[in-house]
Amino acid sequence: ATSDENTMHTLVEPHVAHNYSPLPVTAATAEGAWITDVDGRRYLDALGGYSAVNFGHRNPEIVAAAKAQLDRVTLTSRAFGSDALEPFCAALAELCGKEMVLPMNTGAEAVESALKVARKWGYDVKGVAPGHATVIVAGGNFHGRTISIVSFSDDEDARGGFGPFTPGFTRVPFGDAAALADAIDDTTVAVLIEPIQGEAGIIVPPDDYLPEVRRLCTENNVLMIADEIQSGLGRTGTTFACEHWGVVPDVYTLGKALGGGVLPVSAVVADRDVLGVFHPGQHGSTFGGNPLAAAVGHTVVRMLAEGTWQARAAELGEHLHARLREFVGHGVIAVRGKGLWAGIDIDPELGTGKELCLRLAARGVLAKDTHGSTIRLAPPIVVTHDEIDWLVERFAEALSS
Ligand code: PLP
Repeated sequence: ATSDENTMHTLVEPHVAHNYSPLPVTAATAEGAWITDVDGRRYLDALGGYSAVNFGHRNPEIVAAAKAQLDRVTLTSRAFGSDALEPFCAALAELCGKEMVLPMNTGAEAVESALKVARKWGYDVKGVAPGHATVIVAGGNFHGRTISIVSFSDDEDARGGFGPFTPGFTRVPFGDAAALADAIDDTTVAVLIEPIQGEAGIIVPPDDYLPEVRRLCTENNVLMIADEIQSGLGRTGTTFACEHWGVVPDVYTLGKALGGGVLPVSAVVADRDVLGVFHPGQHGSTFGGNPLAAAVGHTVVRMLAEGTWQARAAELGEHLHARLREFVGHGVIAVRGKGLWAGIDIDPELGTGKELCLRLAARGVLAKDTHGSTIRLAPPIVVTHDEIDWLVERFAEALSS
């Protein structure tokens, strides 16, 4: 252990609910890929707000758009319009190659909203008997924390103590198209899937999986909902992770980076024949689509429309993965991911994921473990080639200490 590591203490936050186990780092300021703590120590942020900070902390273009909107109008509710909402939705729909956008706030809300859309589409359009719609999900999924979403999780930490659960979900193993084919029946309205599973440890499916999911959904008149809340918007080197396999889902759920690292902005994006099932009074949100969120979200969409962020994530991601692969067999069991997104399985003999993250933090790198001995890296896309090398050197030190 370094002296820094020994002086790192646990956070003292007696008034904060204990639903997280944070690293002992108290951020005071941040810029680009770096966070400075209250003692003036600087950290390379290799977590990137779980992919919410794709464009860097306080990205100047996003902050300028937010500041300009702060001086105009910030909140109207959807009881009437704002001049920011339609342009944002039009731009986001175009980025997705779809016709309509349902603006929400958090990722979980976008997923809940997509599930409501799918059920209603199932009854109104597909003709499923009232009350019988089912949605198929994948084992190891993570889609958020609401009661309905944890109802179809297989993570006991996420579910335990929160029943009774919402019915109407069937879970099949991720990556197994045959199991999905077997599970589809006349009540199936949608398949909800993360194209690359984030919280599960950056699990990339076999190459034929998503095209097969797409084919099965089309063949059976089932909506394919891609939850791109963590995988989308540049992270994997493309706008959407589905693009790696040439797959276009019927519905996207988006969030995290859509808010530019500034505020929560999420959305459900689909064509009119799907999102059009919602009529006034059937769904809503006080904050969804507020002018401030729309201004920020629109700026994010404009930035992504140029393609340079995606290209940068692809190029830097190749470098990151090439460097990380050097460790396989030397303290690392496996490295997975695409673009600037990596899941690293550490040899459990070298410590838990959390212990390794503490060693990294003591060396100035912030990362977070998932599922015991996996570390996930998702640095802001503003990170440089040299900073990735620096991160990898710190990782090597943390592994061998
Ligand atoms: N869906 C996916 C794929 C996620 O990774 C997450 C968050 O990690 C969510 C949904 C939930 O988003 P939020 O935490 O904004 O509710």
